[in-house]
This record gives sequence, C-alpha cells and structure tokens, in this order.
Amino acid sequence: MTQNTDPASNLAVVKDEIAKAAEAAGRDPSGIHLVAVSKVHQADTILPVLEAGHRLFGENRVQEAESKWPALRETFPDLTLHLIGPLQSNKVKDAVAVFDVIETVDRPKIARALATEFERTGRSLPCYVQVNTGEEPQKAGVAPADVEDFVGECRDELGLDIQGLMCIPPIDEEPALHFALLSDIADRCGLGIKSMGMSADYEKAIALGATHVRVGTAIFGERPPRD
Ligand SMILES: *Cc1c(COP(=O)(O)O)cnc(C)c1O
Repeated sequence: MTQNTDPASNLAVVKDEIAKAAEAAGRDPSGIHLVAVSKVHQADTILPVLEAGHRLFGENRVQEAESKWPALRETFPDLTLHLIGPLQSNKVKDAVAVFDVIETVDRPKIARALATEFERTGRSLPCYVQVNTGEEPQKAGVAPADVEDFVGECRDELGLDIQGLMCIPPIDEEPALHFALLSDIADRCGLGIKSMGMSADYEKAIALGATHVRVGTAIFGERPPRD
C-alpha cells in the first residue's frame, strides 16, 4: 500500500495498479471506476486530486459532505460524489441535494424516503443496494438471500434506478469470497455495477468483477482521527 503523503502521486500509482489488475484479469481498464474516498480529509488534501483531473469521490457522512463539497463543486462542476456510508431517513433530503449516487440503499424505509424525495425534487439519483455479504448483525445491508426481492421492490414499486450492488466484507475474512458472492448476486439480478474493493484488496475485487473500487488510504494516506 502506498504511504506517500502526496495524494496526486498516490492517485497515479493506484490508477496504474488498477490498470495492471484489469489487464491481469483480461478486463478493459475503462470498465473500472476509481471512487476516491475522501472522508475525514480536508479540502486542501482533496484539491490536488481534483487538480490532477480526478472527478469521482466517495464520502460516508452526509453532514461532512455538505461542509466540504458544495465549495469544491463550484470550481469543479463536473465532479461526481457517491454516498458510501449509512443513510438515516432524516438525512435523505440533504443527501439527495449533495450527492450524485447513493451506494447504500439497505432497507425499505430508506428506499421509500429516497423515492419520495426524488419525486418531490425532480432530482432522481442512481442507487446501489448495499449487501451484507457476511451477514454480520451489526453491519448495514440486505442479506444475500433477500437482495433479488428487495431490488425488485425498489424498482417496480418505488421506481428507483437501481444500477448495482455494493459490499464491505467482514474485516477478518478473506474478501475474495465476499466479492465473488456480490458478483454472483449482481449477475443474477441483472445489475451491471459492482462496487467492491478498498485500499487493501481492490486488485482482488477487480479480478472478481468490480466495476467500482472505493479507495481512500492508498490515495490520501492514513486518516486523521475524527474530533
Ligand atoms: C472508508 C471506506 C472505504 C475506503 O477505505 P480504505 O481502506 O481507506 O481504502 C471504502 N468503502 C467504504 C464504505 C468506506 O467507508
């Protein structure tokens, strides 16, 4: 893992490693999108990555995104921001205003709240369903066995534009098993987008079909503690 403190050169290294992993897997690198996870980092750390031409970012907290991204968007209006953390119903309105893609649709209540907000604002965002591949009780996400029904409900009853699935494997298990499971479920549901893989394991995720890898530490360095 890169530990350089220069985010722009780390970005170049990660992009290079993504291209190599794609090639090793016989995949077209243009089918793999790097979501640069900038949570906790301040705008001055994020700026060099924007200035290097990168436009796809992920944040896990609505309020934090609201405090950083509107100003950055004024300078870089073509950027895309993904919500990759849990969404509470009382934050749906703010999330729809600040994000471009919601990766963490994980229960009917949130799906309904999103559908209502999309209807109200006319701003309808692509969504992914978060899958709890490890069936961990403390972790968000739909159980693997319920994904197909949940996706159907989101699409057919609520009109959500569900484009893919995302997962965060259990920290103490081999991630490849979880990536393979997510990939299978997505294929079964006819969903093209597979958001999986982080700094420590994105090459494995690419080998197993990831279309979006979410990489923070390898680009921005170790995260400072939240205060
Ligand atoms: C923080 C985070 C990441 C990035 O993790 P790194 O190990 O720093 O690359 C990816 N996905 C989610 C959901 C996260 O919260």
